[in-house]
Amino acid sequence: DGPGERSETGVPPDGVRGRTALRFGERSLTYDELAGAAGALAARLRGAGRVAVWATPELETAVAVTGVLLAGAAAVPLNPKSGEKELAHIVSDSAPELVLAAPGSRLPDTLAELERIDVDASAGPGAAPRETATAEDPALIVYTSGTTGPPKGAVLPRRALATTLDALADAWRWTADDVLVHGLPLFHVHGLVLGTLGPLRRGGGVRHLGRFSTDGVARELNAGATMLFGVPTMYHRIAEALPADPELVKALGRARLLVSGSAALPVHDHERIATATGRRVIERYGMTETLMNTSVRADGEPRAGTVGVPLPGVELRLVEEDGTPLTAYDGESVGEIQVRGPNLFTEYLNRPDATAAAFTADGWFRTGDMAVRESDGYVRIVGRKATDLIKSGGYKIGAGEIENALLEHPGVREAAVTGEPDADLGERIVAWIVPTAPEARPTAEELADHVARRLAPHKRPRVVRYLDALPRNDMGKIMKRALADG
Ligand code: ATP
Ligand code: MG
Repeated sequence: DGPGERSETGVPPDGVRGRTALRFGERSLTYDELAGAAGALAARLRGAGRVAVWATPELETAVAVTGVLLAGAAAVPLNPKSGEKELAHIVSDSAPELVLAAPGSRLPDTLAELERIDVDASAGPGAAPRETATAEDPALIVYTSGTTGPPKGAVLPRRALATTLDALADAWRWTADDVLVHGLPLFHVHGLVLGTLGPLRRGGGVRHLGRFSTDGVARELNAGATMLFGVPTMYHRIAEALPADPELVKALGRARLLVSGSAALPVHDHERIATATGRRVIERYGMTETLMNTSVRADGEPRAGTVGVPLPGVELRLVEEDGTPLTAYDGESVGEIQVRGPNLFTEYLNRPDATAAAFTADGWFRTGDMAVRESDGYVRIVGRKATDLIKSGGYKIGAGEIENALLEHPGVREAAVTGEPDADLGERIVAWIVPTAPEARPTAEELADHVARRLAPHKRPRVVRYLDALPRNDMGKIMKRALADG
């Protein structure tokens, strides 16, 4: 990229050089300083292929990834909270040459064999090598969240990053004047691509909270930040805190854009936030493999339980089990979401079998997510094919709508719905409930009635199991596999 052009690498677009690009806690970098530090790092990485990044929620991680991209190499972000086994899998699978880390981070033994470079966020100005990578060269290898099986390494070319971020800029009217409040980890696409590379590509700012807190969100939005990206567990905490926190109410009220993604935002939380602040959270839908597919647009109508419309450049269709595309936009016919477009990954690393299985002959990616389309094209996700579609008594029932109904019961704090084998029904509906108050938990009959009245009798849970907490991964996603395995 020449000067003034947009870059996925955080090279400052003209006109923003003196602005604060990144702030993590008390530490910040202007665009000029970021270019200096990333350039100095890139000069050291010249000729490298794959570079692991120990992705702590710190300034150094953003500098590291920017430096790797400037060097024309591919970054492999590592989750510092990974278990030993998962980390060993990712390191042996991706075979990085080096690992970048913030000075002072302690790396586990699994990484002892790798050459370590400490990232100096105050280095520079550095003579960055000229970018030699092409649009099809890998920029990132990001491991999927492991919700449905062991994480797979999605190889993301530079082209995918650039096109997805520009499509979001169009949908969200995202500009250099936007400042993002960020409380997400940096080892998945949500926090890294959208939350870090996104603002840098626009010339805007990032205010990273280090650790998410509703106080941090209130502080940054009230200080002038314009956008918040979060996962549903964060919006749940916000919804819980709002009634007793006027600063938070004020903060959300003045935000330009509140965006949720990575999992379905419960309708109950969406509505509570709307009631308390007058603002509606918009949802976008994406995956590690595809980056972003759909979103409610900034000038569109946010509607609880929907993820909006396909982003510019993204083709989206729903298909029946036999592969026939659905043509009806009736809000009822359920099909698997398939997508095609420049936002897609190139392959799963070292998994030609999984890569081949993921695509149709004509290049559509099978997401494994099931959805319906409303008459105006809005996509409503019903759930994952593998875990959220329950075949019971001749019906196909989506777990999500039952979860949403259960969450409206005052005695239910958290809910997850699964199916388990049943001699009569094929599968029976099981509700996993975290009660609001353990001593006054709603009975199974009460919850079954509650769902039957709201949805339909055949959608009532037949079994209710009570838990202290649902098993969730680092992104707050419910691990349904762990529920099923007991
Ligand atoms: P794995 O592929 O390893 O099992 P994962 O699918 O959870 O894990 P990610 O790529 O991080 O890994 O998540 C993508 C998935 O998250 C999507 O396929 C979809 O099921 C879910 N998702 C993302 N955004 C939304 C949303 N707004 N509403 C509902 N589901 C969403
Ligand atoms: Mg997945």
